[in-house]
Amino acid sequence: MKTLREYLTWAEEERVALGHFNISDSEGFKAVVEEAKKLNVPVIIGVSEGERDFIGISEVVALVKAERARGLPVFLNADHTYSVEKVKLAIDAGFDAVIIDGAAKSLEENVAITHECVSYAKSKGSGVVVEAELGFIGQSSKVLESIPEGVSLEMQTKPEDAKKFIEETGIDTFAPSVGNIHGMVKGGEPNLNIERIKAIADVVNVPLVLHGASGNSDVDILSAINAGIRIVHINTEIRLAYKAGVEEGLKSDEIAPYKFLAKGVEEMKKVVRDRLKLFNKL
Ligand SMILES: [Zn+2]
Repeated sequence: MKTLREYLTWAEEERVALGHFNISDSEGFKAVVEEAKKLNVPVIIGVSEGERDFIGISEVVALVKAERARGLPVFLNADHTYSVEKVKLAIDAGFDAVIIDGAAKSLEENVAITHECVSYAKSKGSGVVVEAELGFIGQSSKVLESIPEGVSLEMQTKPEDAKKFIEETGIDTFAPSVGNIHGMVKGGEPNLNIERIKAIADVVNVPLVLHGASGNSDVDILSAINAGIRIVHINTEIRLAYKAGVEEGLKSDEIAPYKFLAKGVEEMKKVVRDRLKLFNKL
């Protein structure tokens, strides 16, 4: 089976993007892998610090490894990790990828902690993909009343800054701020800055990752992929679908969790399937 790095090269050749879906439990995991299997596409499971505390670090690694042993190219990412210590924990636990998020820190500090994570990953020799972020895109996977403070054109990543940051840190994948916002904004998301994505892709030599794609239009996401995005993150849309499905399930007289949660899985699957088809141009 190809490694995550090899699938990123494949995505570049095919001009598609790998889907990255956040989960909190085994039901979310099931929804993502079952749809990826049906569509026969590689997929990335993401767990934030909170999500990985809930499901358990070794537990989620075991789930992914079991599925991979059955032949599905599924990979595990330690999504937004705010300390070097927690990045090291994830690498040691067997994650395929990690994100060190120093975007809210000073540029100097962001470069320093990112570089430390890259060196640690390399020293382990396991090929772990290290991602970092430059420019602000907000921090929550919720439905937001308005665009968060600090998200503006001025805060979007400049191509020359991206190039310098990637060279100085040695990261494998890069998350720019290009009009994307974590969470979903009530009343609609702003458009993605496709020209900016193109301009960044032109000067850097690592795959670009689009965070906070929940709520962005299909046209925008497709244009972003054509402009050079190779991983797209979806979290909020899955959370909303799960909750709506579970609420439905709870209305029945069922007391078996696997029965009243099943509706939640079903709803998550619809989101995953729909997004995977778009990202993989199927
Ligand atoms: Zn993110």
